[in-house]
Amino acid sequence: MRHRLIVPAAVLAALTLAIPASAAEPAPGAPGVGDPYYPDYGNGGYDVSHYDLRLKYQPKTDELGGTATLLATATQDLSRFNLDFALDVSEIRVNGKKASFATSGAHELEVTPATPLAKGQRATVVVRYSGVPSDVEVDGFTSWHRTPDGGVAANEPEAAWWWFPSNDHPTDKATYDVSVAVPDGTTALSNGTLQSQRSSAGWTRFAWRSDKPQATYLATLAVGKFDVVKDTTSSGLPVINAYSKDLGADEGAARASIERSAEVTEWLEGYFGPYPFNSVGGYAPNVDAGYALETQTRPFYGKRGWANGSNVSVVVHELAHQWYGDSVSVRQWKDIWINEGFARYSQWLWSEDQGEGTAQELSDYAYASHPADDPFWTVKPGDPGPENQFHAAVYDRGAMALQALRNEIGDEDFFAILKGWPQQHADGNAKVRDFVTYAEKVSGEPLSGLFDTWLYEPSKPGAPALSASDTPERPKSWKKIQETNHVHEH
Ligand SMILES: [Zn+2]
Repeated sequence: MRHRLIVPAAVLAALTLAIPASAAEPAPGAPGVGDPYYPDYGNGGYDVSHYDLRLKYQPKTDELGGTATLLATATQDLSRFNLDFALDVSEIRVNGKKASFATSGAHELEVTPATPLAKGQRATVVVRYSGVPSDVEVDGFTSWHRTPDGGVAANEPEAAWWWFPSNDHPTDKATYDVSVAVPDGTTALSNGTLQSQRSSAGWTRFAWRSDKPQATYLATLAVGKFDVVKDTTSSGLPVINAYSKDLGADEGAARASIERSAEVTEWLEGYFGPYPFNSVGGYAPNVDAGYALETQTRPFYGKRGWANGSNVSVVVHELAHQWYGDSVSVRQWKDIWINEGFARYSQWLWSEDQGEGTAQELSDYAYASHPADDPFWTVKPGDPGPENQFHAAVYDRGAMALQALRNEIGDEDFFAILKGWPQQHADGNAKVRDFVTYAEKVSGEPLSGLFDTWLYEPSKPGAPALSASDTPERPKSWKKIQETNHVHEH
């Protein structure tokens, strides 16, 4: 969200030419899963089902180290496989035996097991590592936020390289146990539930568990001085919110927003169905960032988001992602509309509910505020390109597409679709086209034309049928909603 990588054509060609495994000979797994936007993200030849991270972090020096244990299954006969990682590795074992390893590319770790893995074989991969994440840049950027009292890993589409080795693509989801020792008085936060917190010899170990499939970029680690607020929702779901003790004048706005998480979750359940995970909450670190991120069960909220006061709309956006983005994830990064169009639309629904402008009014205003020659309309929300993956058009035009759908098929079918989709693909991945097919099935209407117009035409669509005016008034919620745009972060 803070940068775009443009992969040189030569690299793309080299990756595309990777030779597939023959039936007889074990072959190396591909260095990428084949995502056209990010050819070297993720890896081929295996699936990870679980990450067990046992780490120690020293805030004074930003030193992070420990052991990652990955439970994986080979999906081909494998002589070698890659992990995505950027810290220093001292040892790797595969099924108990030492493996040899080498680094390559920007963030590739090539692992050669002592004996090849057969297709279908389970593998336990133990990686010992250490490093200073803030010293590590990959292609000139970092997703590690160093703070005066610690550090935070939160970014999209990549954040894992700075703190654990992984198969870094949303198609390979896994469960997580994240256990981090930090000096007494400091807190280590991650996803899911806090299983234990124990102090010994000056160090406190926090053990977190995220027990539903979770994409690598949705795993988060935050170490610092936090005030942790624990509660349960009326339905018994654990709520864990955390606030840096260093938020200064922004503390009130952060709390007045994030403390609404349980209420917002209950409200979202009315539209999207049962909340999909084992815990909910949010955290406000002392990170000078203007964006928020839907890290699973526990969204990250950058400090600059509070400069103009509370913003419950951003909480609505990040919690909506728990259904749209986290439980149902993109198949490839070009499917980002599956996440952002719906998270933005949920903010429009919240605005409607709060009497600050209906979704129709917001759609009309967004439509009118970009003249036909605005480059905004050249970005295709259904396939925006890596350089525009988080462009405002993916959000606003993406939500306009949903308003156009609602007008076309009526509220009953529209809201049935909003609630049915997260069940249809729970804990999985989906493409934009899967949504179109699903909407056609539920509504019984052909919708390809509508979605082609709103998601794939590189020009301003004709005026929406219900648009009341050429110069609609700016809805009251407009500014707060625009403040949640992930873009403009440089
Ligand atoms: Zn979002």
